Amino acid sequence: MLVPAKEMLQKAKAGHYAVGQFNINNLEWTKAILQTAQELQSPVILGVSEGAGKYMCGYKTVVGMVNGMLEEMNITVPVALHLDHGTYEGCYKCIEAGFSSVMFDGSHYPIDENVAKTTELVQVCRDKGLSIEAEVGAIGGEEDGVIGMGECADPNECKAIADLGVDMLAAGIGNIHGKYPENWPGLSFETLAAVQEKTGDMPLVLHGGTGIPDDQIKKAIHLGVAKINVNTECQLVFAEATRKYIEAGKDLQGKGFDPRKLLAPGTEAIKAKVKEKMELFGSVGKAND
Ligand SMILES: [Zn+2]
Repeated sequence: MLVPAKEMLQKAKAGHYAVGQFNINNLEWTKAILQTAQELQSPVILGVSEGAGKYMCGYKTVVGMVNGMLEEMNITVPVALHLDHGTYEGCYKCIEAGFSSVMFDGSHYPIDENVAKTTELVQVCRDKGLSIEAEVGAIGGEEDGVIGMGECADPNECKAIADLGVDMLAAGIGNIHGKYPENWPGLSFETLAAVQEKTGDMPLVLHGGTGIPDDQIKKAIHLGVAKINVNTECQLVFAEATRKYIEAGKDLQGKGFDPRKLLAPGTEAIKAKVKEKMELFGSVGKAND
C-alpha cells in the first residue's frame, strides 16, 4: 500500500540520512526502483513529473501500475507515489487519482500567491492523508519546459512557507536540474544552513541530484536534507546500457529484438544506479526503523 512521504522523511531527518526520490518513466523504471528498494530494505519515493504522467497515459494509469506492482511483487518497504513539480491543477488531479504525495511548485508565483495556493493545498492534502512538498526559490536548469536560474532561496520565505504546514520543503541552494555545467560553483551550504536554522525539523529536499559530488551530498544531508531527487542519472545509465546492447549487435542475435531482452540491460543499469544512491544517502536497511 502506498504511504505518504511525511513519516519516512521525519525519520530520515532525525536519523541523518535521506530518502531518494527516483522519477519513473515507464514500467521497467518502476519495477527496477521497487525491486531495489525491497532488496535493500530502503524506503523510497517514486517521482512522477507532469510530462511523465502524460507519457504514461495519465495519473490513473500510473496509480494502477504502481499499486499492482506493490501487490504482485510483495513490496513491504514504505513507498510513496509523489507528483514532482506539480501545477495547482496537476496537484488536484493526482490527489483525485490516488497519489500519496504531491509537490506544489509555486516557486514561479509571487510569494503571496504561492502562500495562498500552498495553504489551500496543504488543507486538502491533510484532509485526504497525503503529504505535500513546496518549493521556494526556483531550481536551475530545465524540467518539463520550465527553466529556472539556479537561485538561492530566501530563508525567511522558506520559513513562511514551512509554517503553512507543508511536510517537506525544497529550497534552491544553487542546485540545478539535469547535467551540471563545468563552471558550476557547487551547492551553497551557507544558504542551506540558514534555511535549516529557520525551518527547524522540516525535512528539506534537494532537487537535481545528478552530478552533485558525493561529499557535497553527504554534507547536505548533514545540514538537514532528508529527500534527494534523482532523475537524469537514471536516464543516462539506461540510455548508455541500451546503446551498448545495440552497438554490440545483440538485438540482431537470436531473439535479441524481444523488448524483454532489449530493455533488460537498461533496467539493470537503473537498479545499479538506485542501489548506489541509496547507499550514498544512507537509507539502506531503514525500511522498518
Ligand atoms: Zn526538481
